[in-house]
Amino acid sequence: MTAQLIDGNALSKQLRAEVAQRAAALTARGLKPGLAVVLVGDNPASAVYVRNKVKACEDVGFHSVLEKYEATLSEAELLARIDALNNDPAIHGILVQLPLPKHIDDHKVIEAISPLKDVDGFHVASAGALMVGEVGFKACTPYGCMKMLESIGMADLRGKHAVVIGRSNIVGKPMAMMLLAANATVTITHSGTADLAAMTRQADVIVAAVGKRNVLTADMVKPGAVVIDVGMNRNLEGKLCGDVDFDGCKEVAGFITPVPGGVGPMTITMLLVNTMEAAERVAAAAA
Ligand code: NAP
Repeated sequence: MTAQLIDGNALSKQLRAEVAQRAAALTARGLKPGLAVVLVGDNPASAVYVRNKVKACEDVGFHSVLEKYEATLSEAELLARIDALNNDPAIHGILVQLPLPKHIDDHKVIEAISPLKDVDGFHVASAGALMVGEVGFKACTPYGCMKMLESIGMADLRGKHAVVIGRSNIVGKPMAMMLLAANATVTITHSGTADLAAMTRQADVIVAAVGKRNVLTADMVKPGAVVIDVGMNRNLEGKLCGDVDFDGCKEVAGFITPVPGGVGPMTITMLLVNTMEAAERVAAAAA
């Protein structure tokens, strides 16, 4: 293997220890960071994600609340709960687990969350803040990818070409904005891109966020490039895998993230970082 692994578990451990220290300091001043996680319905994958998020909060000393509702909860009832959480001084961050049942409009619910508590970074105000370089909350998954780059000495990407595969609102687009803010020259690719390999072969940094196995193969990677794999898929044996042909790409790349143990743990870590930040902003405003 030529590529060095970027270990999301190890980096998460270090970042979560820093959050735990900040949480203890703020709690000592009488303000315990609090996250509310709202789950509607009985999607088994969502139930696992939510449990992991609540456990991660407890591990760093946050106050955490899990609100679980039946799939029959109405949109109006959910909006009323969001309003109550927006006004709850013990809660600094609100996360509504997606997807929501079909009769509830995701967008309406996300927009109902106060931008001051939007620790997932999905609110239009957060996306806008990222776009214009103002203070807001960064979407957790791309924020985690940026921390991974920082961990290998690539916080500043001046002179580097980054290629993002995927343009979703929660990963691809904010990823491109964060790479741009770090001075990279950025190309965004998607299902309408004519020759993906021609793009990725020029890249010093590739972020794959598609949701399909083997979107990126070794022949598409420039020797020494950094490969970050956001994808979460199942292979033919049912094992978790990313979008990247890891075995092939690790022979060409300079750095590569594994799946599992790469971007996944970083996403929850950045949720903790954002919630910590939200609580610290409240403390600073009150001082
Ligand atoms: P999404 O909303 O489905 O977006 C996928 C993107 O990939 C779209 O922009 C799509 O293009 C593009 N695409 C599809 N086929 C392509 C192809 N052959 N070549 C180039 N681009 C292609 O997915 P998402 O929410 O961004 O998530 C992407 C993946 O990341 C999923 O596997 C998801 O499970 C995973 N994920 C992981 C984490 C984590 O914590 N590790 C967090 C979030 C998401 P169009 O826009 O043209 O359709």
